[in-house]
Amino acid sequence: MASPAIDSALMSSHIETLTWSSTAHGEEVDLADTFPVPEAPECYLVSSSCNIPKPPPLPSNISTRSKYPRRPLECCFAPKETMDMWDKVFKDGYGADVCIVTEDRSYVPAHSVVLRTASPVLSSMIGQSKVKQGMRYIKIPGVPHDAVRLFVRFLYSSRYEEEELKKFVLHLLVLSHAYSVLQLKRVCISLLEQGWLNRENMIDVLQLARNCDAPRLAFVCIRMVVKDFKSVSSTEGWKVMKRANPALEQELVECVVEADSRKQERQRKIEEKKVYLQLHEAMEALLHICKDGCRTIGPRDKVLKGNQVTCNFPACKGLEALVRHFSGCKSRVPGGCNHCKRMWQLLELHSRICNEPDSCKVPLCRHFKEKIQQQCKKDETKWKLLVSKVIAAKNAVGPF
Ligand SMILES: [Zn+2]
Ligand SMILES: [Zn+2]
Ligand SMILES: [Zn+2]
Repeated sequence: MASPAIDSALMSSHIETLTWSSTAHGEEVDLADTFPVPEAPECYLVSSSCNIPKPPPLPSNISTRSKYPRRPLECCFAPKETMDMWDKVFKDGYGADVCIVTEDRSYVPAHSVVLRTASPVLSSMIGQSKVKQGMRYIKIPGVPHDAVRLFVRFLYSSRYEEEELKKFVLHLLVLSHAYSVLQLKRVCISLLEQGWLNRENMIDVLQLARNCDAPRLAFVCIRMVVKDFKSVSSTEGWKVMKRANPALEQELVECVVEADSRKQERQRKIEEKKVYLQLHEAMEALLHICKDGCRTIGPRDKVLKGNQVTCNFPACKGLEALVRHFSGCKSRVPGGCNHCKRMWQLLELHSRICNEPDSCKVPLCRHFKEKIQQQCKKDETKWKLLVSKVIAAKNAVGPF
């Protein structure tokens, strides 16, 4: 009868590698490829952190690049001459009526009508400012003077030098958010997503993206942190964040752990599918051996004749060897040797799948059908699960 070891062996996610050695024939057959034996499940439980909803799919860097132009928001339909003119209006500062005071008491002259039109926040600031000798003074502190200049220039003409923008992109992201200049904000986000993010600025960008209401950019950052955690966590930005914002550090570490366990889970499922598919193949080969007899494996020690083609059943060879062992095993181990236990399992599995026990040529098919009637409920559930997985294995779409 089936060994008690079957209980623990049935539902495995492992493929046990085993070399079968027949003492009777002194020949070794590697059964690992054809004859997996499942073991008890241990790591089926998924981490409890899985109840966090998954974020929407993110654009991959490659596809984003191929879909959109390098500077996506540059495709402006204003004639070059018009943009040149507005750039000149800003650079000449002729007739400026606003003085934007920046860090180091520097200033940028501007025209209130342009600032008011471009930004509702600036408009309100200008409205509240006092007029001194026909000039209004407003302050934009906290960012370098050149960043403010770049910002104001963009308000006039949407123009920028790429090198300059790259240098101040984080400042401009903040300015565009704070002063509600959405077009500039889109430019900054898009350029960061498309390649200006690097491991040195990633943590800063992530924090700014969150503060500036740019969730997609934040997701892109997190994804990159997860992908390249080792090098990102050694950057200066990470060290500063760790001191100033330990909750974010904790959150990112959890993301990395979660991504890791998802990867392991995927791998485990792939391995599990392989086991069931191999069992399915073993079932087909068993039927074929018992029904047709496998001519290409044929009696031991005989070589295939020239006109005979190799058997199409991948599990046939290993199974044939096992069947031979089973019939001639002299082992006196209680419950049989390991190979015999496997044979019992396969015979029982066949019987549970088989729909024609009366005419079936597989040994013990009916015997098992009868035995199943008396089996306890717990075993029954396990077997039913195994049977359904083995049957489904053939149709399952998988990466192997
Ligand atoms: Zn065969
Ligand atoms: Zn044996
Ligand atoms: Zn049968």
